[in-house]
Amino acid sequence: MKEARPAIHVRKGKVLRCPVCRRPRDSEYRPFCSARCRDVDLSRWLDGSYSVPVIESEDDGQGEG
Ligand SMILES: [Zn+2]
Repeated sequence: MKEARPAIHVRKGKVLRCPVCRRPRDSEYRPFCSARCRDVDLSRWLDGSYSVPVIESEDDGQGEG
């Protein structure tokens, strides 16, 4: 059986989002979605209380048996 290949390649990956509000970012204000979020992030840096989100990796140590 013949299968038609898609003309376009669907990119599988993470969508770059605004680090402030997690909305799809705008190329105009990258890496943010708007000038507002850009200022918010900047103020955080200036304030010195910028916290990097920690990604917790769940260890699936499920024993068998
Ligand atoms: Zn934003």
